[in-house]
Amino acid sequence: MKPKRQPSGGAGILILSRICTPPLSRPSRSYLLRFVPSRKSVDFIRPGGSKTATSPLLTSIVAKRVILQKICGEAHFSYPLIIHLYILSMVNFGNASAVAVVPLLLMLCAAQEPGLAISATPAPPFKIATPSPLHHCSGMRTVKSVRAMQHLALGWKLSSVRVGFVPTMGYLHEGHLSLIRQARHLVGSRGKVVVSVYVNPTQFGPKEDLSKYPRDFAQDARYCRKEGVDVVFAPGDEEMYPHDGRGQFSTYVTEEILSRGMEGASRPTHFRGVTTVVAKLFNIVLPDFAVFGAKDYQQAAVVQRMTRDLNFPVRIVLGPTCREPDGLAMSSRNKYLEGKLRSQAVVLWRSIQKARAALRTRSSAISAQRLKADLKSFIERQPSARLDYLEFFDPKTLLPAPKVAPGTQMALAVFIGRTRLIDNARL
Ligand code: AMP
Repeated sequence: MKPKRQPSGGAGILILSRICTPPLSRPSRSYLLRFVPSRKSVDFIRPGGSKTATSPLLTSIVAKRVILQKICGEAHFSYPLIIHLYILSMVNFGNASAVAVVPLLLMLCAAQEPGLAISATPAPPFKIATPSPLHHCSGMRTVKSVRAMQHLALGWKLSSVRVGFVPTMGYLHEGHLSLIRQARHLVGSRGKVVVSVYVNPTQFGPKEDLSKYPRDFAQDARYCRKEGVDVVFAPGDEEMYPHDGRGQFSTYVTEEILSRGMEGASRPTHFRGVTTVVAKLFNIVLPDFAVFGAKDYQQAAVVQRMTRDLNFPVRIVLGPTCREPDGLAMSSRNKYLEGKLRSQAVVLWRSIQKARAALRTRSSAISAQRLKADLKSFIERQPSARLDYLEFFDPKTLLPAPKVAPGTQMALAVFIGRTRLIDNARL
């Protein structure tokens, strides 16, 4: 929508543009923002034309967020977005930063609408006069569309709001929540924490548990709200891989060294799916920090390498593995472990402890081959356990270590019945 001179209502009044409520709150309501250059203030106008408030509304903290959300919910017009951001820059930054932001915005405006002239004098910061009536827009938000998430993230970027991101496949547990807390710690109370909940089909092999993967979005949302998450990004497959059903999704990201062994050898297309979806999520959420769990050590290493190699401006942070009281690493897949399988599953953690104990009793490094053989027979003493792989490796390069010594990383994957579990630790 183009801005236009208001036909009546007084000289010098410019209707900037229409702001719609985001699709997830009240779909059909829309408002007008009216910038009055002579007063250097902004009117907020209800549908039907009645004026709800002047600048004070825009100045409260809640209103700032509401405006931002509205902008991002309606950001498919580039021109109004620029105008909104102009207002936002005044509202959010007051005099000083608006001086820096406004000329840039005006340049962009001029490029799109040569006849338009807006005073480049920034307005003074508005006073807070009345509490905002728009409380329904505050709190955690669930976003399902890529475009809405991207626009929200873009708004944050432009306002220098730091964003911490925790990608998950949902069915959240304490391990995920510990990463969320770390993300909050990294961005502070004024930053934003985004959690994605998406069971990514491209990282599952054809015979794996994609259709059975546990899901409980209502519970995930409750946990996230309790942790003070700002946005849960929960796209569907059609959002993330549009046209895939017709074979028209054809771009993938592959890391070619760290992803070769262990999980990569057992699940040949797994890391291609992980790096592809993480790259997409980084482009959608635009985070400053992304927190991954050490539970998936190789995955974190592969993502870190991809981030470095492809110059994503994201810092990868590793959170420690959270365990059940008996040592079993928390995992959404633990839900599959019924009856005796649950007690057998602790064998992964016990084999790590056994390797540590072996190192303690020896003064020199141990042959990796021999220790692997010992641990394989230890693991497979459990009636439902079958070792998929067990590897000792350098924690930085992930290259296999022929000799095991303190500081070597150990990782293993074990089927307990039909459930495949992984674990790892530094020895
Ligand atoms: P997932 O939902 O299994 O894809 O995991 C999402 C993120 O949570 C990944 O970075 C995992 O490494 C991490 N994660 C999963 N389980 C744990 C755990 N027990 N402790 C810490 N992080 C975990």
